[in-house]
Amino acid sequence: MRLEIVRSKRRKKTVAARIVGDVLQVRAPADLSEGELSEVINRLRPRLERERDRRLAACSHELEARARFLNKRFFGGSLPVGRVLYVSNQHRRFGSCSPWSAEIRISERVAAMPRWVRDYVLIHEMAHLLEPNHSHRFWELVRRYPYTERAKAFLLGVATGEAIGRRLRA
Ligand SMILES: [Zn+2]
Repeated sequence: MRLEIVRSKRRKKTVAARIVGDVLQVRAPADLSEGELSEVINRLRPRLERERDRRLAACSHELEARARFLNKRFFGGSLPVGRVLYVSNQHRRFGSCSPWSAEIRISERVAAMPRWVRDYVLIHEMAHLLEPNHSHRFWELVRRYPYTERAKAFLLGVATGEAIGRRLRA
């Protein structure tokens, strides 16, 4: 996880921290020493991670129900979908699936996107359970979802923005 620290003269005593994607954002008083700050961060981090995991588990419950709905609606329930969950460790991909366990893992970044984009990511990964490669047959399956092209363009924009952000930080 990347650490982003903002020092503020206006902040008197307290340190505030939150996890946004793969970044731990910390706001700290300007005069707090490095040692004290890292002590506070080490204390806060596990709690923040636990909270994030709880939040993800609750959202995953909803996500799995949505996947089952989409499977019925577009594939007559024919895709062998297993567990469906949000994960916090996919920062470059939007989703992945395991053909062995039929488990579908969706990056938590997708949770903040419009619903029609999230549905596309789910359908893309679900279709991989039948067609592992991006073959003609794979796209035939995925294009049953009417917003496929729009969602691909949206995600390309997001991925490009993220890549530029990484380059600027490097
Ligand atoms: Zn794919």
